[in-house]
Amino acid sequence: MAPERFFLQLDPPLEAMRDWPHVVIVGGGFAGLKACNALAGKPVRVTLIDKRNFNLFQPLLYQVASGLVSEADVASPLRQMVGEAANIQILLGEVVDIDTEAREVVFNDHRYAYDHLILASGSGSTYFGHEEWRPLAPPMKILEHADEIRRRLLMALEEAEQTLDPQRRRFLQSVVVVGAGPAGCELAGSLIELMHRAVDRDFKQLERAQCRVILLDAVDRVLPAMAANLSKDAADYLERAGVELRLNTMVASIEPGRVILKRPSNAAAGEADAGADGIGELEAATICWTAGVRASRLGRLLAERTGAPVDRGGRLQVEADFSLPGHPEIRAVGDLCHYAHTNDGTVLPGMAGPAVQMGAWVARDILAGLEGRRSDPFRWFDLGSMAVIGPWYAVADLRGLHVSGLAGWVLWALAHLAFIPDTENRIALFSKWMWQIATRQRTALLITGRPDQHIGVDVGLERAVPPDRVTQSPGALPSEPLNRLISTPRITAM
Ligand SMILES: Cc1cc2nc3c(=O)[nH]c(=O)nc-3n(C[C@H](O)[C@H](O)[C@H](O)COP(=O)(O)OP(=O)(O)OC[C@H]3O[C@@H](n4cnc5c(N)ncnc54)[C@H](O)[C@@H]3O)c2cc1C
Repeated sequence: MAPERFFLQLDPPLEAMRDWPHVVIVGGGFAGLKACNALAGKPVRVTLIDKRNFNLFQPLLYQVASGLVSEADVASPLRQMVGEAANIQILLGEVVDIDTEAREVVFNDHRYAYDHLILASGSGSTYFGHEEWRPLAPPMKILEHADEIRRRLLMALEEAEQTLDPQRRRFLQSVVVVGAGPAGCELAGSLIELMHRAVDRDFKQLERAQCRVILLDAVDRVLPAMAANLSKDAADYLERAGVELRLNTMVASIEPGRVILKRPSNAAAGEADAGADGIGELEAATICWTAGVRASRLGRLLAERTGAPVDRGGRLQVEADFSLPGHPEIRAVGDLCHYAHTNDGTVLPGMAGPAVQMGAWVARDILAGLEGRRSDPFRWFDLGSMAVIGPWYAVADLRGLHVSGLAGWVLWALAHLAFIPDTENRIALFSKWMWQIATRQRTALLITGRPDQHIGVDVGLERAVPPDRVTQSPGALPSEPLNRLISTPRITAM
């Protein structure tokens, strides 16, 4: 019988690796996974720690929310992605502290030593100080958020089908999406299409004219980070598709089934949906939030530990090589970092493209340093930005080349398929998109899960010891059987 292997067997599998420098990567998203790929097979020992056991392709979360594709189509198990590399160990757990003096990360109530630390823990959603809105208006950042949006909308349509009161039916057929950036536009466009299709074909009592998707934002145009002509193309398409745009409109508060509006201080009078008292409101059974992003809490934690500056979004302001001031052994990449060492001082956007390039560069730079070489400075290649607004329709801003419509959709599809890190998912997505376009059918319209499933997600490993008895075992964890370690701390909403 083969000797039992415990989950936390941390000795490197090959004796030769014992003396290799140890690179710990926190976060297996776009940046962390790319760094891992670049270090696979190199003379370093790599430990990838993530609180989920999969890499999530966030740009397609809206497709999960609107039943176009299912969860597994947009997520890939990390072990499948990089687990085979002999020098890479993957550990499930949430890093809760970093001892920068001792050079140790703390997770699963243990301490774990590093020589180089790559922090790639990404970002989460923020309600700008109104955390009480989270249960009422789910964000779209993790799979459970997308599942909850889909569950709420489909449940509302099911209830509407059995409701005689026309006013209540209209309420149940109404959706408000807060935030008109790419995620909000994509979600709004996909939800109105889903509702129209469902009402035309599947629901006998509901009327298309009663379906409402309202997209609101404080700024005066959708996709404000894109060129003005693309914003206009996207807005025109959304309106033709039936989405109501409420721009120059801010959320004053959110109550169950109701969004209270206010006018931004800089909006022209009369532009917002003002009621008699100057404040309007929208009633909708489904409310979604795509408006705010803030860096992972490890940003602020590192700022406390090292004195590194953070920006308003909690992103660590890094040096030109992504290290923290005074800590060349710690790098922060992806959405967690504020990188302003560009030719014109522009801060790199929190997008997949920069995250991937940062992860790859930092890995190469660590390897170069170990070989006594200096690597070329980081140069960001701007791949542009895109948003898909409906079937066969996307807008793309490719380094000044502006494309809308079918050509934009083709570019969007090719770019996303190229970025998907898993071949199986690439094939599954392509075939589902083609099927959906040919038949207008969505295959993932299941109502699953429990209400408010997005509020806390049970996952990961149990505290094996109380928090005040953290094991002091730099670089090595005790080999405890899996069943003693497993339990369910909550994934705290990022
Ligand atoms: C809905 C949506 C749509 C988007 N659309 C686009 C788009 O069209 N194009 C584009 O370029 N970008 C898009 N983005 C942005 C893009 O997804 C992010 O910029 C990118 O994911 C950042 O990569 P990252 O590696 O920094 O973080 P992430 O990809 O978020 O990965 C972070 C990882 O760290 C893990 N983690 C976090 N904290 C801890 C911890 N304490 N311990 C252990 N593990 C931890 C998480 O589980 C996660 O796996 C979109 C984002 C969203 C939410």
